[in-house]
Amino acid sequence: MAKVKGPTPQSQDFSQWYLDVIQMAELADYAPVRGTIVVRPYGYALWENIQRVLDEKFKETGHQNAYFPLFIPMSFLQKEAEHVEGFSPELAVVTHAGGEELEEPLAVRPTSETIIGYMWSKWIRSWRDLPQLLNQWNNVVRWEMRTRPFLRTSEFLWQEGHTAHATKEEAEAETARMLGVYVDFARNFAALPVIPGQKTAREKFAGAVYTTTMEAMMKDGRALQAGTSHFLGQNFARAFEITFQDKDLKEKHVWTTSWGLSWRIIGGIIMTHGDDKGLVLPPKLAPIQVVIVPIYKAETKARVLDAARALEAELKALGIRVHTDERDQYTPGFKFNDWELKGVPYRVELGPRDVEAGTAVLASRLGGKESLDLKALAALMPEKLEAFQQALFERALDFRKAHTRVTDDYEAFKDAVAEGFALAYHCGDAACEKAIQEETRATARAIPLEFPAFGVLQDDEALKETSEGRCVRCGREAAYGRRIVFARAY
Ligand SMILES: [Zn+2]
Repeated sequence: MAKVKGPTPQSQDFSQWYLDVIQMAELADYAPVRGTIVVRPYGYALWENIQRVLDEKFKETGHQNAYFPLFIPMSFLQKEAEHVEGFSPELAVVTHAGGEELEEPLAVRPTSETIIGYMWSKWIRSWRDLPQLLNQWNNVVRWEMRTRPFLRTSEFLWQEGHTAHATKEEAEAETARMLGVYVDFARNFAALPVIPGQKTAREKFAGAVYTTTMEAMMKDGRALQAGTSHFLGQNFARAFEITFQDKDLKEKHVWTTSWGLSWRIIGGIIMTHGDDKGLVLPPKLAPIQVVIVPIYKAETKARVLDAARALEAELKALGIRVHTDERDQYTPGFKFNDWELKGVPYRVELGPRDVEAGTAVLASRLGGKESLDLKALAALMPEKLEAFQQALFERALDFRKAHTRVTDDYEAFKDAVAEGFALAYHCGDAACEKAIQEETRATARAIPLEFPAFGVLQDDEALKETSEGRCVRCGREAAYGRRIVFARAY
């Protein structure tokens, strides 16, 4: 009898558990070129749901999708000094094409600020051409030596938003608004209790004035940067001469932003919610929200399948993503394990006796089974899926709080980052920040911040406190006026 072999237990080897789950749940597989992966249909369906939700939010906030080319002249990347320095080590460059050496090498886009900046310098003439609110869904290449599906890959899928504005205030508001969109998505769709904040100067995006971020905690206590929104000031506007004539008839440089969220968020969902049985997917993003497993013998097959298909139709009519597992070659037990591995939130078990009694068994991926009236089941599901979504978020938030320590002592700080987040004061000196990384392998993840107007709030009182203190490592006067989040990160 075929049996589903489970993933390596998390407690034994979290890293191996992650790789096992990705393979076994058929999310992705390794491709022939190191650093690249194949996203399989189940993984891609998850990505499509992420895209659909975010795309709607981008459009609601006034953005339009466009597409810019994969190849970028090398000279473009060199125009913004910090930008080229930051990206050079990861660039893939095309030097030959069509059987000839190219006059100018072409970078395979690592991100599109430069090419969009170049086009804006042609498109933007007057204040009437502003703001520019663009987004593109695409792939980018940043060379990696080690592959970790969805977390570290040379080529990855993401969206990159790019906007240009007439004023600094407007561009900063946009930066905050899009972080708000990401935080809302992470918390209310991916069920990730993310901490919104600003990156330290050492950790910001190459070319940005400042970078805002949202940081999630994985089940091994490490941090995952789940999305970033950058205020670019006039850095790219100056590099690409993006100017406009303002209402006062003066020629001015525009103010730009960029913001991105990649398939890393899939890694975040896996490592925040998964358990020893496999994935646990948030209902709002799960490719399948309810799976029906009919249980029958030859003589009861027709009756059971009829009832299963009727239930499936009812659930579909309610807008629920449902699948009936009619595979004859597998036992019900195999199917139960298989769908648990794939993280489907609810499973309906339907056998001949259930059909006769007008009942069905509903099993939650978070544990627990109940026998329900078959006729009433479908109508109960929207509320149950909502409760599942909420429970998943609460569980992750409790975990994060339990693994976050407020500390003023460097030894305690070292213990804290070994198992989770440390909230500590820091002097703001990049050299001291670097020393912390060398001594503890932890980096500054975020200076917690809030933008109430854009829905960016903290979900833990400890992250809201503002006060003065001394650097946890060097004892000098702290910068930032609050404790910042340190952690080992993916
Ligand atoms: Zn210090």
